Amino acid sequence: MKELIFYSRGGQGAVTAARIMVTAALKDGLYAQAVPSFGQERKGAAVYTYSRISKEPITVHTFVYEPDCVVVFDWSLLELGIDIHKGIKPGGILVANLSHMPDNLPAAYSRVGLIDAWAVTRKIIGNVPPNAAMLGALAHITNWFSLESLLFSIQEIMPGKKGDINATCAKIAFEKTVIHERANVVKREGPYANMPADAKTGAWRMERPIINTEVCVGCGICCHYCPSEVIKIEDDKKAQINYVYCKGCGICSTVCPKQAITMVLEGGVLNASA
Ligand code: SF4
Ligand code: SF4
Repeated sequence: MKELIFYSRGGQGAVTAARIMVTAALKDGLYAQAVPSFGQERKGAAVYTYSRISKEPITVHTFVYEPDCVVVFDWSLLELGIDIHKGIKPGGILVANLSHMPDNLPAAYSRVGLIDAWAVTRKIIGNVPPNAAMLGALAHITNWFSLESLLFSIQEIMPGKKGDINATCAKIAFEKTVIHERANVVKREGPYANMPADAKTGAWRMERPIINTEVCVGCGICCHYCPSEVIKIEDDKKAQINYVYCKGCGICSTVCPKQAITMVLEGGVLNASA
């Protein structure tokens, strides 16, 4: 299953884009879904749209937290403090409405697709949302749904001349998308495999789990339940926590059958030596 987040502002057509993408994926014989999440309901406000494409039936209907791909309609969202890179999986894909490579991209991205979707859209259609162009770029860089199905879906959802011209816009964007392959992708193995490369989530922690190694029997239950997958059983058969990424949720402490894990206030006395 591939999971996507579309980052946009109200009025830029990302919700419609996700709907069109879902229709295209269905035409390709895949399963797909779109889950929009609106912030303030006004033009220009940030809008997040979550989507999934899969060869198998999709049983989750939640927002997406660890996307395989982020599609950024408007790079100025970063100026609002929106972390568009949050949760990106190692090997992830970025599709950006930009003409130049942005600075300081997380190493987790393996591919970046750039398209000046505003320019393509203005040239082909006029001053309208850039969603058809963004979809063309997305189809090209991911290859998760076909261009042919995309063009059919645009014409189906936007009947008549509007559909024809938007399909043309998507096709031109598909051809114009510049793809950058990145060699320095972070690929972790083992329990930290799904952690975003740059998100030091340990900084969010209010409480720190402390393992009493005299009591721990290495059963691994805490590893299984840790939502951040940051506990592993070391060679000495004792659990060990990666504090760089532990968020301090306390679940490990709750599930440990030996009560070997104690939560202490971050910065408290016990932490001095941890
Ligand atoms: S659940 Fe408790 S006893 Fe089991 S490995 Fe984790 S800390 Fe050790
Ligand atoms: S406190 Fe939460 S994030 Fe940290 S190790 Fe325990 S279960 Fe994992």
